[in-house]
Amino acid sequence: MTTKNEPRWAIRKRFGSSAALALAIAAASTASAQQIGSLNPRPLPPLAHPDDPKTPARELFARKTSGAPMAARTIGFYSKGCLAGGEALPINGRTWQVMRLSRNRNWGHPKMIAFLERLADKGMKVGWRGLLVGDVSQPRGGPMLTGHASHQVGLDADIWLTPMPDHELTRQEREEMSATMVVAPDRKDVDPNVWTPAHTALIKAAAQEPEVDRIFVNAAIKKALCREAGNDHAWLSKVRPYWQHDYHFHVRIKCPSDSPECKGQPPVPAGDGCGKDLDWWFTDAVLHPTPAPTPTPPRPRPITMKDLPPACRQVLLAQ
Ligand SMILES: [Zn+2]
Repeated sequence: MTTKNEPRWAIRKRFGSSAALALAIAAASTASAQQIGSLNPRPLPPLAHPDDPKTPARELFARKTSGAPMAARTIGFYSKGCLAGGEALPINGRTWQVMRLSRNRNWGHPKMIAFLERLADKGMKVGWRGLLVGDVSQPRGGPMLTGHASHQVGLDADIWLTPMPDHELTRQEREEMSATMVVAPDRKDVDPNVWTPAHTALIKAAAQEPEVDRIFVNAAIKKALCREAGNDHAWLSKVRPYWQHDYHFHVRIKCPSDSPECKGQPPVPAGDGCGKDLDWWFTDAVLHPTPAPTPTPPRPRPITMKDLPPACRQVLLAQ
């Protein structure tokens, strides 16, 4: 998740297999914001052997429906960690609404929840009429059964590129409505029929918040932001091109000061990342990748509790 315009092999070389793995999973779980949710989500059945060390951690964390009653702190890395004292973003605010309630992923570190509420208000001031908030984290963070390699520590949030409608959405709308595809069919720029100056203003407002570490958007969106930024390019360095992210943008905030076990990322490279830095994303090989070889290689072993920081066991078991 630290990439600019590097091919995957280069990322693997720099960050080892776990980063490559995170990328592979991120790329494999396409358009998860578009997956329709259920109006009657059924609780997951109990696990036969929850204490088996081979049990994927995602099966354990997905079964926790409330936050760990502990002081708030983030433990581990964005794609390998968990969250103590998670707080839920209220599903309705004056300037936001939460989508896909059946997923129960509107939980975050209190700093993230406060950030989202602040951004929703700030967005109104720059012409964005309210946030539709997608996935933040599970109540106790951790790996998930579907989608996302990251979003594990309550410091990542997906925000739809669709402004909030002027009414309180029904349960059905929240599960079934689609976010807006803002990238043009040729993938080389935004779609002028849907992209507005308010899209740029909202992403800029988010990037200018000091606790924001990175924002992931499709390369075509970054290209549009570069074009529309005018003379002020300082905020653009935090806005990173990434696969997908054409219906939503992803905001990642920095490790909060109350979380000594939180592992942050190196700062983003200097420079706005515009112009030539984006060229690789628009090469034929990236826009039109050759199909994966068949049969596809086996998926890597899922994360188990022993792969996570030891404190995540207390988070999982806290009553
Ligand atoms: Zn995301």
